[in-house]
Amino acid sequence: MLDWPFDNSYGALPDRFYSRLAPTPVSKPKLVAVNQGLANELGMDAEDLASDDGVRVLAGNSVPDGADPLAQVYAGHQFGGWVPQLGDGRAILLGEIIDIKGIRRDLQLKGAGRTPYSRGGDGRAWIGPVIREYVVSEAMHALGIPTTRALAAVATGEPVYRESRFPGAVLARVASSHIRVGSFQFFAARQDVNALQTLTDYVIARHYPGAGGALDLLDAVIRVQARLVAKWMGVGFIHGVMNTDNTHVAGETIDYGPCAFMDWFHPETVYSSIDRFGRYAYSRQPDVMVWNMAQFATALLPLMDGDLDAAVEQATESVRRFPDLYRAAWLGVFRAKLGLGTAEDGDASLINGLLAAMMDQKADFTNTFRGLSDGSARNQFADSSSFDEWVCLWTERRGREPGAPEEQKERMRAANPAVIPRNHQIENVIQGALAEDFAPLFRLNEVLARPFDLPSEDALFALPPRPGEEVRQTFCGT
Ligand code: AMP
Ligand code: MG
Repeated sequence: MLDWPFDNSYGALPDRFYSRLAPTPVSKPKLVAVNQGLANELGMDAEDLASDDGVRVLAGNSVPDGADPLAQVYAGHQFGGWVPQLGDGRAILLGEIIDIKGIRRDLQLKGAGRTPYSRGGDGRAWIGPVIREYVVSEAMHALGIPTTRALAAVATGEPVYRESRFPGAVLARVASSHIRVGSFQFFAARQDVNALQTLTDYVIARHYPGAGGALDLLDAVIRVQARLVAKWMGVGFIHGVMNTDNTHVAGETIDYGPCAFMDWFHPETVYSSIDRFGRYAYSRQPDVMVWNMAQFATALLPLMDGDLDAAVEQATESVRRFPDLYRAAWLGVFRAKLGLGTAEDGDASLINGLLAAMMDQKADFTNTFRGLSDGSARNQFADSSSFDEWVCLWTERRGREPGAPEEQKERMRAANPAVIPRNHQIENVIQGALAEDFAPLFRLNEVLARPFDLPSEDALFALPPRPGEEVRQTFCGT
């Protein structure tokens, strides 16, 4: 029998925070992948997870001792439009586990069947989006970017009907929690100030034990989100669905749907098939996060000190700090990418100068930055004249850095990954999975686990797509 150290706290909150229900069993569960490193962090044994008992739990066919399965309710702004009730429509929180470092972590099954929040949906996921989330979330973790994690994926043995008929799958996801800006909005919209206070106290205790109240919480979330978005920008990541229900209060990247990493650089890049107006384009992400933080601030107003005017003033001041916090974080990220350990006023224009040359020549984002440390960046430019001019400015700037050139190179190698999960590779892995060949998945995961350190025999993983391989559109992931 599985003996997992559950210690559940969300289920102790009032009934109106969730619906208690078990996952819906599936006909023929079969393990696709298990994440040994993460299992160990949780104090679990990967072999137990891969055993028949383990796979039954991961598929939702049996509920382990100590679990308290439930679907969380939330609301949110989707593409700017208010939706008063959303919730886990295809996910079930099994419970919380205290990991070997003493950190409380949610264990959730995504694709585990219908819930009261499923609306028209079937509560299921097909193997494509499950693999996509598995690969990308683990890659993000290896890149040092806060994210939910992937513990395992299982095939259900049941079909899921989307544009066509696909094999169903369940993702076992681990997160510091699954509480979203939309969780607060849900209660705020109902003027349920009691619940709002309870949720605030809960989030402070779980994520920000130093915070004194709602305003402190707002400031803390603004800080972590400013840093998170800056990190996304530094690897060319486009979340794709930055709705407030997909904005995590502890600053983890959550709900990987039509997300993608850019190949060649253009600030207006959009991959998501449903983002027709480019609301969530690469360069829009910081502005969208300000907007999301304004929604969070609005939800917290009833808990702030003083009358409404005073509360609005304080909250507005906090949200207004986001652009400066973001800019500082962005400068930190991109200075490191250029090997710079000190700060100068002209650094932003130096960084933007490179990005402009990259945009003009459709240079590959990842390989240009990685190539700065080994001299190969120039190869990314068909016409290298503007890049060559930029290198002169960069060389001058580097001359004013105190450390040795080798230190700058080291800094660059640690800030510029050699590999990211490219769309065409993910697509390739999904095609393999559809033919029940999971070897490409394991191989890709292995390479992405050490993104700053690519052995020469794996150099093909760093290649941008060939013309026929390019994936220009990604889908919702439902
Ligand atoms: P997302 O933007 O992918 O995070 O999903 C938005 C909302 O739609 C969430 O509340 C999901 O739980 C719900 N949803 C997405 N796919 C399904 C599905 N297949 N069945 C039921 N609900 C779903
Ligand atoms: Mg979501």
